[in-house]
Amino acid sequence: MAELRFSALQEVFKREPVATTPPSKDVSKYFGSNVFDLHKMEHYLSKEAFKAIKNAISQGKSLTRNEADQVAIGLKAWALEKGATHFTHWFHPLTDGTAEKHDGFLEMGDNGHMVENFSGAVLVQSEPDASSFPSGGIRNTFEARGYTAWDVSSPVFIVGSTLCIPTIFVSYTGEALDYKAPLLKALSELDNAAVAVCQYFDKDITKVIATLGCEQEYFLVDEALYYARPDLVLAEKTLMGHQSAKDQQLSDHYFGSIPERVMCFIEDFECEAYKLGIPVKTRHNEVAPNQFECAPIHEEVNLAVDHNQLLMDVMRRIARKHKFRVLFHEKPFAGINGSGKHNNWSMATNTGVNLLSPGKNPKSNLQFLTFLVNVVKAVNESNDLIRASVMNESNSYRLGGHEAPPAIISVFLGSYLNSMFDSITRKVTDKKMTPAQKTELKLGIGKIPEILLDNTDRNRTSPFAFTGNRFEFRAVGSSANCGASMIVLNASVAHQLTKFKKEVDQIIKKGRNKDEAIFQVLKKYIIESRRVVFEGDNYSHEWHAEAARRKLCNIASVPESLKCYLTPASKEVLIGSGIFTEKELESRVEVEFEKFTKKVQIEARVLGDLAINHIVPTAIRYMSQLIENVKGLKDVFSDLEYERLAGARKEMIITISDHITNIKKLVNDMIEERKRANVIEDSFKKALAYEKKVKPYLEEIRYPIDKLELIVDNEIWPLPKYRELLFTR
Ligand code: ADP
Ligand code: MG
Repeated sequence: MAELRFSALQEVFKREPVATTPPSKDVSKYFGSNVFDLHKMEHYLSKEAFKAIKNAISQGKSLTRNEADQVAIGLKAWALEKGATHFTHWFHPLTDGTAEKHDGFLEMGDNGHMVENFSGAVLVQSEPDASSFPSGGIRNTFEARGYTAWDVSSPVFIVGSTLCIPTIFVSYTGEALDYKAPLLKALSELDNAAVAVCQYFDKDITKVIATLGCEQEYFLVDEALYYARPDLVLAEKTLMGHQSAKDQQLSDHYFGSIPERVMCFIEDFECEAYKLGIPVKTRHNEVAPNQFECAPIHEEVNLAVDHNQLLMDVMRRIARKHKFRVLFHEKPFAGINGSGKHNNWSMATNTGVNLLSPGKNPKSNLQFLTFLVNVVKAVNESNDLIRASVMNESNSYRLGGHEAPPAIISVFLGSYLNSMFDSITRKVTDKKMTPAQKTELKLGIGKIPEILLDNTDRNRTSPFAFTGNRFEFRAVGSSANCGASMIVLNASVAHQLTKFKKEVDQIIKKGRNKDEAIFQVLKKYIIESRRVVFEGDNYSHEWHAEAARRKLCNIASVPESLKCYLTPASKEVLIGSGIFTEKELESRVEVEFEKFTKKVQIEARVLGDLAINHIVPTAIRYMSQLIENVKGLKDVFSDLEYERLAGARKEMIITISDHITNIKKLVNDMIEERKRANVIEDSFKKALAYEKKVKPYLEEIRYPIDKLELIVDNEIWPLPKYRELLFTR
């Protein structure tokens, strides 16, 4: 087995950087060349078809059959020109990835000749056999049909020779089976609720979109080493491996110069991303060795989510060309930083205003404050739901880890806004304000500086931090489809804004003026959600105690946390607004429980196999060598000398033997626990059993294995070690 490790290392030493030439030095010349965007639509579509699709996009409407046929004609012409031979509906099932089933344009023509065909009907709707996707019981296999429907707000694109049509995915009876369908509903809720509130300030605001920029962290591992690690191949994380003597303690990788081979990979995938209209902008080394980050310019949420999913696909594909594997797992290596996908989120109006950016005058600042306070209040009210939206098996290794936010969801505001919150709660009284108080307050609000935070006033430990003109939701995992967290965040804020509007209107009805009514409600909200604002170190132990005092939940258990999707408060947000039906929500949580169970099961199986079939035989081999050696000593030396010389070796034999016995026993015990958990019918209880009874064995079994790694002859150790995975490239 060790041959595989050493031949892999030799392959890595021979690698050369693979440079690629972009279509042009100016990215703007080819940006979006593989996207059927408005510009190309105008060129390829008839006037009527172009008008129809433009309306459909801006108003979120669907196309008539006739309009769809018209669009299909132009789309086909463009796709064939670009060399596409197939098309697919591209969707986001409740797995971590995306799905596609390709069909050729090719059809048998009337007179027996083959022709390329593409109609409006297949453009807007398709019926993939969807029986194997997770549905949480909504769709039994005998009614396997689900259908996909075109989401016109996300443009069609070409990958390779395939035309990809972004779609929603619903069951035959109309229930959502994906992330996109509910996300679109949540975004529309937010639009309505935010516009209604904006009307207090500016009658010209008729549309509000949520914006998202995802910072994507990832690790790179050389392909040869990757294949020599079955745990990476099957679980995308290492299940064993002793810490490298040096890893990130010197912080010498962070923001360092990007290694040349990696740089070639980055330039290559960025080029592909540009062609697909993905505006990637920032790249840098991350804290852990072989860890990197890439961030795009923010876009409308639905598009940003599509682009992030697509980008992960592109990165995986291009990595192979460079003989790398990209790891999106949240915690591929124990003991060093994991990866997140910081979701930078804000709201923007049709008048070009960022609602979370302080303005130039008191009116726009009151508007800013209104949205800021409502977001904070939403995070307070939907606290458990927001945690649930980022909780899953792989992210559970990261949340609570020393570099990642804990499972307590709090908000960081920065010192200026924090003291502003203080002064508001002090100054505004529930009684009618005196004119002097009013002026003072207006002055205070008018004075909010346009640039609120510099980089020194950043709290990198907060799961939900205000960063000057947006919130950065950091708890989202690097492998996640951020649709899940975006559904919940946007729905929660929409729900909150609707409540706010109602409360303010009621006070106005009682005869108060608008600004006073707004102040009054904001003050109440600030007091009510003060507990969720935390400016200190989220990694500290004191915060855990402090959070408990504030009655903020800290649920580190994944199944328990997921259950919070189904509390009355969560249902009010998600079902009350029509984003989910009861059945949809319940089945979604069911899918999450099952995903959790299966992932722990896979890790447990892989570790069992590695332990028994790779590590134990290696340890026995080395032990036998030692035994032979001890026997030899006995032959060669006198009894007295033998006793002196053999002591240390005998101890090693005993230590190795103890570890082997321990591993054997633990693996057996783990298998027994799995058997017990597997017969549990209830998916929540089963997930809980996997978490509480099976998952702890992963750590326990790893311990003696990692100890053996330090004892056994390096020449026969079968798996690439941490130092090799992290420092060879
Ligand atoms: P940092 O690591 O300093 O937070 P980065 O440059 O790595 O910053 O990432 C910042 C991200 O925030 C980018 O993706 C950027 O587009 C995004 N962003 C900036 N403004 C907004 C906004 N108004 N709404 C959403 N995302 C935003
Ligand atoms: Mg950031």
